[in-house]
Amino acid sequence: PGTLFVVATPIGNLADLSERARQVLAAVDLIACEDTRHTQKLLQHLGLKKPLLSVHDHNERDRIDQVAEQLQNGRTMALVSDAGTPLISDPGYPLVQALREKQLRVTPVPGVSALITALSAAGLPTDRFAFEGFLPHKSGAKKERLEGLQQDTATLVFYESKHRILDTLQQMAEIFGEQREACVARELTKTFESFYHGTLPQIIEQLNANSDQQKGEFVVMVSGNKDPKSAAAVNSDKLFRLLLAELP
Ligand code: SAM
Repeated sequence: PGTLFVVATPIGNLADLSERARQVLAAVDLIACEDTRHTQKLLQHLGLKKPLLSVHDHNERDRIDQVAEQLQNGRTMALVSDAGTPLISDPGYPLVQALREKQLRVTPVPGVSALITALSAAGLPTDRFAFEGFLPHKSGAKKERLEGLQQDTATLVFYESKHRILDTLQQMAEIFGEQREACVARELTKTFESFYHGTLPQIIEQLNANSDQQKGEFVVMVSGNKDPKSAAAVNSDKLFRLLLAELP
């Protein structure tokens, strides 16, 4: 049987595509991708023409058998997403899981991911970090998720879009506190790459100063809680609030 290569592609700067990624994309029979138009552009840039198979969140389960069959027939394939590393807040997990169960060969061709790129230049602790991906869109679920992270001592890493960046930073300031150090990376590896560093309110102020700075793609990093309460203290806090709510 053939192999599925999971190939990382750039997150903005096309020169970040690795030499091995280029060789693998040139060699495979078929490329599974998120958005065919997007991948077509990358292939054009590389001077390659390849059959494409779209695999996105809505059809991924149906595509699994097709991909498995191609591999079983000895074809080699690549999986790419629109940007960065597949499966990292991108499609591919059910596919890779299914191929592993079928004992088919899956091998990574590593490259860029926005989370590691952002952390590498943020100046926040990187010895322990938790990748949280995208927060839930619904405000109740989002608040609950953030509250659940309030005590975490590891650096927290989130992906965010321009539509929600300010709202998210504001909620973080409310839940994590106004003193929490953070860093926001915007448009990494692109022309308007920028880093905003400071406490959460200071970062909000910087983004508010110029609406252009609210455009593009964002990675939000928040340093861990430096003074976490013991689990017992957190529980007694919770108990106290529950009891308080019951008082007339
Ligand atoms: N698979 C990708 C990776 O490995 O980083 C992530 C895909 S996810 C659908 C897209 C999100 O990643 C964006 O909303 C943003 O939060 C982050 N992102 C991707 N490219 C970025 C960039 N150039 N600068 C800042 N954030 C970026």
